[in-house]
Amino acid sequence: MEESMVAGVAEAFSRVDGVMHCEDVPLTELVARWGTPLYVYSKSAIRERFRELHEALAPVPHLIAYSVKANGNLGVLRNLAELGAGADIVSAGELHRAQLAGIPGERIVFSGVGKTVHELAAALSAGIYAFNVESEGELCSLSELACAMGLRAPVALRVNPDIDTPTPHAYTRTGHAATKFGIAAARARTLYSIAAKMPGIRVRGIDVHIGSQILDVAPFRDALAYVLDLAHDLKREDVDLEFLDLGGGLGISYEGEKRITAAEWAAEIVPAVAETGLKLVVEPGRFLVGEAGALLTRVLYVKEGGGKRFVITDAGMNDLIRPSHYSGWHAVEPVEQPGRDRARVDVVGPICETGDFLALDREMELPKPGELLSIMTVGAYGFSMSSQYNQRPRPAEVMVDGAEATLVRRRETLEDLVAAETGLDAG
Ligand code: PLP
Repeated sequence: MEESMVAGVAEAFSRVDGVMHCEDVPLTELVARWGTPLYVYSKSAIRERFRELHEALAPVPHLIAYSVKANGNLGVLRNLAELGAGADIVSAGELHRAQLAGIPGERIVFSGVGKTVHELAAALSAGIYAFNVESEGELCSLSELACAMGLRAPVALRVNPDIDTPTPHAYTRTGHAATKFGIAAARARTLYSIAAKMPGIRVRGIDVHIGSQILDVAPFRDALAYVLDLAHDLKREDVDLEFLDLGGGLGISYEGEKRITAAEWAAEIVPAVAETGLKLVVEPGRFLVGEAGALLTRVLYVKEGGGKRFVITDAGMNDLIRPSHYSGWHAVEPVEQPGRDRARVDVVGPICETGDFLALDREMELPKPGELLSIMTVGAYGFSMSSQYNQRPRPAEVMVDGAEATLVRRRETLEDLVAAETGLDAG
């Protein structure tokens, strides 16, 4: 039996006698059971990533608050919850999921620029660890609400350190002054003094999140320096802190790029945090789940036109929007390797948009209609950004653990597409 790792992707996916497997299960078997398009996740890949980070942060008290937006499937959340992960949430919906997965309130932090009063109240009732407050208005609403509920809200101010982080796309940079995120650096100290006197607020920490898919330690070093400086000043003003939250953003390998290992990252961060005696909170999403997922799709047609060759698949931008929205690059692998000639193609979906593609101008083995392709490294911001656009039921999701595969979300049906609508009853 010949085994090989699939180039540039996590060890979770490998070939055995030419057929791609997730852990010990052939992807062909998963498709035979559950059809396409199909999201597949490796349980052990997620667990390994979590352990790597947990061990690297071991020298300091820490909380790994998994960023639910990356992949909120309850199977994924339960898997992480069992390992001791907390959750970084941005909505009442994500709070609900975290709670269903058994993540206790004291391990939840709540980020986001537009939390509604209803969401603030739900999180207060859940007894979360911290609200990462992003504006003065939010701080006032939260204090008022907490007082009305007879509580004090634990708060970190999310500060915008004005760091222009190099990420692959402008949409994933969140740490420079011109973005909507966080509280302007120049205003942060004043707002901390105000917060410390508010009756419904208990200041607990400082929070930053500078961007996503970061492959260089320098921006993290800069963000930490900013946070340490602020913590130092607050200490002098008798503002008592308990934690520093450095957000998420650790990058992964999509195209064979070298990612920062958790140990390399921690070597930059942990010693300085240890000196403060404060707890370290991190909010990784992509790092934990990105490389653990693949999207399986069937080739419907292959056609030529305008000097191009199009491979048309049954998965489209509604199933995976990263290529179109972020110019995200994903390896496209044949599930079985017939060893055919290579050709330059656009891999496109069935959606009525020119922007509906999974890969552009890609040299690959030319597949035939009916064959299966695996779109790699889609465990993060894959299913969680999917939609029903063009009235397409969303794909099923499967979790593989060794030789066992479990359906963790069934495929949506045509009934699901209209289940919430009342238009036919309206008269
Ligand atoms: N924390 C916050 C506040 C975020 O906005 C995000 C992503 O957008 C994350 C954490 C997770 O980022 P990543 O998946 O890059 O780790």
